[in-house]
Amino acid sequence: MNCALRFETHSDEETRDAGRQIAKWLPEHAVVVLAGDLGAGKTTLTQGIAEGRGAARAEDVSSPTFTLIHEYGEPVRVYHVDLYRLETAEQARRLGLEDLFDQAALVMIEWGDKFPELLPADVFRIVLVSTGDEDRVIEVTAPKRRNGRALALSPRAGAG
Ligand code: ADP
Ligand code: MG
Repeated sequence: MNCALRFETHSDEETRDAGRQIAKWLPEHAVVVLAGDLGAGKTTLTQGIAEGRGAARAEDVSSPTFTLIHEYGEPVRVYHVDLYRLETAEQARRLGLEDLFDQAALVMIEWGDKFPELLPADVFRIVLVSTGDEDRVIEVTAPKRRNGRALALSPRAGAG
């Protein structure tokens, strides 16, 4: 997959800002896997993305590690899922993960690579790597289309 967007951040607020920008580039309806170690900034980035979508204030977005799914917006515009604590694909299925993929919303999935068999083909991927105490590299890749080329990301009409 081609990397479509790349950020280097040096604080959690910079990561939220990256999220606000990513929110403008992602399609209205998309499934996004967030990959990266514990503390890499997956939840922090999602705070910015949810705010960028106008679904919630960043400070109101908390980790779904124990609750598994959080919803933001009325109607829901962002689902925030964390599969960290799940052990089997069946548990994720029972959570209703696949039902979320049909929703006209952004579905952000921390540890989403754990059960790749559950993911739709056209998944976006955001990889976060910690390169220092407060340094992070964030790379966004778009799904490949059937012709093998990456989906072109473009700012959504009216985004801003
Ligand atoms: P994850 O969801 O990947 O486990 P969190 O977003 O919950 O990670 O936590 C990231 C932690 O790293 C927070 O404590 C945050 O303050 C800290 N941090 C330090 N620098 C950064 C940065 N550049 N971007 C994101 N988080 C950072
Ligand atoms: Mg998290």
